[in-house]
Amino acid sequence: MEIRKIVGQVCYVPNPVNIGILYTRDSVVLIDSGIDEDFAKKLCRLLEKPAKFLLNTHSHADHCGGNAFLKSRFSVHILAPEIERQIIESPILEPFYLFGAAPPKELQTRFLMAKPCRVDETLEPGALTLQDVTVSVVSLAGHSPNQVGVAVDKVLFCADALFSEEAIKKYRIFVMSDVKSFLQSLELLERSNCDFFLPSHGDLTNDITGLLRLNRKVIENVSNKILKLLKTPHTFDELLRELLDSFNVEVKNLVQFVLYRSTVHAYLSYLLDEGHLEKDLIANSLLWRIKA
Ligand SMILES: [Zn+2]
Repeated sequence: MEIRKIVGQVCYVPNPVNIGILYTRDSVVLIDSGIDEDFAKKLCRLLEKPAKFLLNTHSHADHCGGNAFLKSRFSVHILAPEIERQIIESPILEPFYLFGAAPPKELQTRFLMAKPCRVDETLEPGALTLQDVTVSVVSLAGHSPNQVGVAVDKVLFCADALFSEEAIKKYRIFVMSDVKSFLQSLELLERSNCDFFLPSHGDLTNDITGLLRLNRKVIENVSNKILKLLKTPHTFDELLRELLDSFNVEVKNLVQFVLYRSTVHAYLSYLLDEGHLEKDLIANSLLWRIKA
């Protein structure tokens, strides 16, 4: 594990979940805290100055799993966006909303739930000054309900607003909670005048044109496949199975299942609200079909 400089006082730690590091006059601002306490301990050993601030881009456990350790050991001041903040403070909300009710123990895992941790301040889009460093917080909602990115010195830490080619090859249909917001976030990334972009799961790059195209293509392919399948009415479970089969996805456990299910629900509400779908309640079955 090492710290790499991007520009000036802006650095990162390359990792399965990349961590942003901003040096202020006498402290460090972290962007996300990694999967767990062990990772956060290793991270702290690397830092040349004490960590005083932590900006969480969103509430997924691999981005805030180190929070509780950083809070208890270093009293780090933690900022996170509304909604994401509430999930970081009450992590049961994550498997709860994915399952739709009190989740079985199998879903109460470290992959879906970080240790609970108090958040000190809500992260709002706009300028934010931390000691002598000013960052710009941008809304990158869609992957999770209220995800944000952080721009500083023309470097944009873009969280999970954009998936790498490897991640797309692995998951085929990437996790989203809101398709329309995800597409709007891609537009915002396209308009950005930053020189460097760092997705959380991917490499630092100065050109995201190809990745934007690839991410949009996945959304277009999934949407088109759903519309094609729904030329004949389907229940949700039938649709999910046929869609996953057609993308060669093999779901291996309940965690993966609820993540895919939630993502396909995101597509259905998007396509319904955009006027492409209809639904009928027939004999206690909810049937989805394309709009006649
Ligand atoms: Zn995420």
